[in-house]
Amino acid sequence: MNTVIAIDGPAGSGKSTVARLLAERLGLSFLDTGAMYRAVTALAIRRGIDVTDEDALTSLASTVDITTTPRVIINDLDVTEEIRTSEINSTVSMVAAVAGVREAMVRRQREFAERQPRGTVVEGRDIGTVVFPQATLKVFLTAELAVRETRRAGEGSDSIASRDLLDSSRASSPLRIDADAIELDTTHLTVEQVVGEISAWLKAH
Ligand code: C5P
Repeated sequence: MNTVIAIDGPAGSGKSTVARLLAERLGLSFLDTGAMYRAVTALAIRRGIDVTDEDALTSLASTVDITTTPRVIINDLDVTEEIRTSEINSTVSMVAAVAGVREAMVRRQREFAERQPRGTVVEGRDIGTVVFPQATLKVFLTAELAVRETRRAGEGSDSIASRDLLDSSRASSPLRIDADAIELDTTHLTVEQVVGEISAWLKAH
């Protein structure tokens, strides 16, 4: 298997910023799996699909083309800005709880990593537990809710807390720390410090 650094954790724990910088420093590719679930949600809403219609969501997720870097594109539609709106924040966890949607996304995530010979930093909720159980390094980032709210300026603590609850309590691949993962509380750390810690773990690995 190609090198995969799995970075999981709740909303606002610093995953995206850290994963992006780490990938740049190490010369690895970067995959934002949250953007994939958000893109499917945006397209479903545009098509008028009900977010409780599991069959329609599964068939949509199974047939779409998605790229997340440098822009988030789903079936030639650029949804980079749209996927950060409050409408998507409040519906994405329902879409991401559908087992068929997850299967379709996990397949794409594995295919993406296979195509990156230098390796990939992958961030999400189930990367170490389900998508890449054999990952080179598994990191689980946490942070106090108040700090996560500041980092996700505009989303609000209610929205973050309700996404965390849905993501951790769903039946299919819930957010949880893998037994092999190293946990890091980023509440009082800068991005540089977090990237430094992970780089050191990787070297010691
Ligand atoms: O990371 P981000 O906040 O953009 O993720 C948006 C949502 O996508 C999460 O709240 C979660 O419901 C879903 N997600 C997931 N599994 C992943 C990544 C994201 O279920 N690997």
